[in-house]
Amino acid sequence: MFKKILVANRGEIALRVIRAAREMGIQSVAVHSTADSDAMHVRMADESVCIGPPSSALSYLSIPSIIAACEITGAEAIHPGYGFLSENAGFVQVIEDHGLTFIGPTAEHIRVMGDKITAKDTMKALGVPCVPGSDGGVATLEDAKRIGEEVGYPVIIKATAGGGGKGMKVAQTAKDMERAFQTARAEGKSNFGNDEVYIEKYLTTPRHIEIQVFGDGKGRAVHLGERDCSLQRRHQKVFEEAPGPTITAQERARIGKVCADAMADINYIGAGTIEFLYENGEFYFIEMNTRLQVEHPVTEGIFGVDLVREQIRVASGMEMSFVQDDLKINGHAIEVRINAEKLPNFAPCPGRITQYHAPGGLGVRMDSALYDGYRIPPYYDSLIGKLIVHGRDRPEALARLGRALGELIVDGVDTTVPLFHALLAEPEIQSGDYNIHWLEHWLETHLGSA
Ligand code: ADP
Repeated sequence: MFKKILVANRGEIALRVIRAAREMGIQSVAVHSTADSDAMHVRMADESVCIGPPSSALSYLSIPSIIAACEITGAEAIHPGYGFLSENAGFVQVIEDHGLTFIGPTAEHIRVMGDKITAKDTMKALGVPCVPGSDGGVATLEDAKRIGEEVGYPVIIKATAGGGGKGMKVAQTAKDMERAFQTARAEGKSNFGNDEVYIEKYLTTPRHIEIQVFGDGKGRAVHLGERDCSLQRRHQKVFEEAPGPTITAQERARIGKVCADAMADINYIGAGTIEFLYENGEFYFIEMNTRLQVEHPVTEGIFGVDLVREQIRVASGMEMSFVQDDLKINGHAIEVRINAEKLPNFAPCPGRITQYHAPGGLGVRMDSALYDGYRIPPYYDSLIGKLIVHGRDRPEALARLGRALGELIVDGVDTTVPLFHALLAEPEIQSGDYNIHWLEHWLETHLGSA
């Protein structure tokens, strides 16, 4: 087992990793930009190294600075968290070239799944059901129009390198194709340096269901059920739950096995998420994330496992601490993402926290790097906390969420907390009857959000 690991991230996810390391008796090293000298992850780690100025390009994304921080402190392995360098195959290669260990999958797995066209081809070959669409990339507008007719409108044009909801455009009819095709290409180029796009049938009323998988890199892999992340704004998740309110035990077992077998086939190592759209009882693969997800705590809640601990274990060469039959679902868990943003338009709202009080009590987990007097810097993601609740069933989890939100105090900046209070009053949230478009409609109707 490692003696010391470096956490190449900030905010709540850096704390999450530091906590797991401490429980395992492993020393932790935080890295930070000059804007984050006072951040909680710096205070909580055993050691810290400043790796650059506020701009993430020059700090949290600076591979040479992170490697240097490992060399200075003697850290043997790097946990990337999510975002930043977590899905950068080049980073993994450099880490290995320096004789260090990446706590995550191999560079090859990241490369294959990071390109959505290659990912889809790979998954199809492994027997995973996919959304109907183009066979690979679509180079010209003429091809795009032909495929649009073949697949049937509406269709979605997606940048193969896309992520975070960027580089995706819907064409409702043939008339929209030119604009959607050019915009998706331009967004792919400007955001990810790659203008290759592909086309998929646009599903009109799906739920977003993702399967948590975990592999040991030696041909053994398990699934930890699904998360329903259908409540989204601009293709970004805001509320996640496990198990999915509409998924049956049979469906879970079937799709879970397909995913676990696929991961065993490719000798996948560590945590991964296979994302599907789910409509009329069918699952359609859309992409795989080769990292820990923001919403992993809901899975931890219902299975009672520590996914970060498992990541560290398998990266160090140890076995996973469970097999499929050990994994039994207990109750229901819900996570809400609390952002420093001003409603109704979700404008980022950095600033000084004048008062912070985290909720507590049975079944409540608050993953946050906030503290009284903390100044949220304007340079990074606006996620400031994740409130996760666990109950014996979905109604109990919802009631607990309302209770915990009522206890939470975040003064000094605007947050998305009022959104969740309002959502909990909606019959569709109480019954679980929503799809990926429900929240956008609700926001337009109730808040007039853009
Ligand atoms: P990203 O990598 O940017 O997160 P994804 O491929 O995971 O992109 O898709 C994100 C979201 O976009 C999905 O959860 C869903 O809401 C929507 N989406 C993606 N593909 C389709 C599709 N074929 N039909 C309908 N909605 C889609």
